[in-house]
Amino acid sequence: MGKSQNSILRIFLLASSLLLGWKIGYPWGFKAHRFINREATKSLPSPLFAFYSEFAEYLEEHAVDPDKRRYTDTNEASKHYLDLEFYEQQLPIDTIPHFWKNAIEKYGESHLKNFGSLPWQIQWSMFQLKKAFQSSDLKQILQISAELGHYVADAHVPLHTTANYDGQLTNQRGIHALWETKIPDNAMDNYRLIIPKAQFWYSETDTIFTIITESHQLISMILQAEKWINNQIKPQQRYAISTVENTGKPIKKFAEHYLFQCEKAMENSVALRLQLAIHRVASCWYTAWILAGQPNLPIIRDYKFNSKFKAFVHHRKKSVAFPLMRFAPTPSFGNDYAKELYSDSNDIIDSLHHNDSHSDHCHKR
Ligand SMILES: [Zn+2]
Repeated sequence: MGKSQNSILRIFLLASSLLLGWKIGYPWGFKAHRFINREATKSLPSPLFAFYSEFAEYLEEHAVDPDKRRYTDTNEASKHYLDLEFYEQQLPIDTIPHFWKNAIEKYGESHLKNFGSLPWQIQWSMFQLKKAFQSSDLKQILQISAELGHYVADAHVPLHTTANYDGQLTNQRGIHALWETKIPDNAMDNYRLIIPKAQFWYSETDTIFTIITESHQLISMILQAEKWINNQIKPQQRYAISTVENTGKPIKKFAEHYLFQCEKAMENSVALRLQLAIHRVASCWYTAWILAGQPNLPIIRDYKFNSKFKAFVHHRKKSVAFPLMRFAPTPSFGNDYAKELYSDSNDIIDSLHHNDSHSDHCHKR
């Protein structure tokens, strides 16, 4: 795209975004966020694996705390997205300062509040997690890990990296929830994802901006796919009537076949981003621990509990032990390890939506 076209696009985006006002932000569905945190515990190396597995339930439950906080804290929403068009003329991302202090200097705080601060939020949470490990603060380690998992997962959602976050600029409203909630909620239970073991991030900032870049690159494909599929399937064929569980009231929902068709047309990007998110969440927990100096992990019996947390831990100890999982062999990751994960994922795509489990390295999800 030429520079003048770009400027026109930016003015258009700015105007539309001002007209629309402050956005509350849209999350991966709660189910997906919980799934990502839970699955991430399984790809950690020891000794983190044993520690995080013990608290998998807590990490799962608190995966959605940042989204809940958006309704009470007006500063929260912008931490979940980055409207890239307001920061970078075109890919690659090479003009955005990697550090918060420099970003504030370049753009000013209100720009970051309006157009998002997700990459710096991930950095900040990683720093906090490192501190929590160093001070052996169990409650903080768990809470920050759960929330860091949320922000890293959000960075994997393409529509969290664009000003056209709900297709509102291309007459495709609803596409945000379709991609990140309706499709995964419909299909996730049948995904069989291979998650390599967590990797140390040699450069946190490079990795974070790589994730944002990958997400942003998928946007035009997703928008085109939705248009294409809606030309194929008539509006009345996209929905099915089902009933609300408790009340028995009829409710109009997207039909399963429509969601599967959308997923296919969108090149299985939902499953692939979900898979990468799980691996990256585990990797950033692991990286924070390494950067903290690989300290001993807090021993539960030494921990001074507050009553609510004590009740939780007590409950955990009584519940069933977390099963040991087998892991896929770790691919050798270079700088562009994301690409490698994608190239390895043909097998995964083949096995999506199949319920049979035939590989020792795979576990059905
Ligand atoms: Zn979010």
